[in-house]
Amino acid sequence: MQAVKITDHGGTEVIDYGEYPDPEIDDDEVLVDVKAGALNHLDVWVRGGLPGIDLELPHVPGSDAAGIVTEVGSDVTRFEAGDRVAVAAGVSCGECEFCRDGDYALCATFHIIGEHVQGVHSEYAAVPEDNLIPVPEGVDWEVAGSSTLVFQTAWRMLIDRADLEPGESVLVLGASGGVGHAALQIADYAGAEVYATGSSEEKLEYARDHGADHVCNYEKEDFADWVRAETGKRGVDVVVDHVGGETWRDSIRALAKGGRLVTCGATTGPNPETDIRRIFWNGLSVLGSTMATPGQVDDVMALVWDGTFEPAIREVVPMSETAHAHELLENREGFGKVVVKPDGELE
Ligand SMILES: [Zn+2]
Repeated sequence: MQAVKITDHGGTEVIDYGEYPDPEIDDDEVLVDVKAGALNHLDVWVRGGLPGIDLELPHVPGSDAAGIVTEVGSDVTRFEAGDRVAVAAGVSCGECEFCRDGDYALCATFHIIGEHVQGVHSEYAAVPEDNLIPVPEGVDWEVAGSSTLVFQTAWRMLIDRADLEPGESVLVLGASGGVGHAALQIADYAGAEVYATGSSEEKLEYARDHGADHVCNYEKEDFADWVRAETGKRGVDVVVDHVGGETWRDSIRALAKGGRLVTCGATTGPNPETDIRRIFWNGLSVLGSTMATPGQVDDVMALVWDGTFEPAIREVVPMSETAHAHELLENREGFGKVVVKPDGELE
């Protein structure tokens, strides 16, 4: 079969598309004929190499994909050939203290398909049954293959970790990016007053159309000053930050007393300065979050499948142009998800 391959760690030149051994399924796995997948910023990190993760190369990347079941292992009970499925990439052990407590996203050995183990950007992928969810008829492959990672991440951040209540105010940074555009829609759905930042008029218009009540171009204006001005110096109850180093101080500055900063990423660096006095004096909470539990995935994806939430599709490219897809992500051009399809699907 054909697969995207990371042949080494480095720039986009290490990305290849070509022959790769056909996957063989284990007893608990399902063979999926991949129709579409999507890039996440995680794919850029994996390409560059992540500390503590020693990947076998070549590595097939990709954490998001959807397609049709063609074969199931002998222990598989939930799926059969012909079923439409999407990948939910978080892998938990089911046995550690956190899994036994029902919080699979805190699993002691938690890992992600495409990050720590082979991914799904290939014509066929062998995926554990536990990492697949059914996709209803009528949902586009582009939507099915591009939504699970960012929507589950944003859902757990806002609904579980930040425990967002109707009437509260939320600031979503980078509201046209993957996690950002999901968080925007979820915050609006939860009944919050939504503040959003973006780097162009086009992105801000998108944010306004998808739930933002107030928007700020962070290239032109200090977003923390803007939030304080818009809220009569009060600040917002929750900030969704996936940006990291560049925004951390201002995210904390944008919070109201008792506010919560919830983070799922550090795209611009992991070691920001922080003003501890502001945290204790204002009674702030800093909440970490990653991926979600299977139940949280089910809850949010039901709202994607019924059209309540819409992933923005920035561009659809053949898997052989994955290097171009990485450039789009790294240059922060456009907004929403970059979808990839096996070249054979586009012929
Ligand atoms: Zn576990």
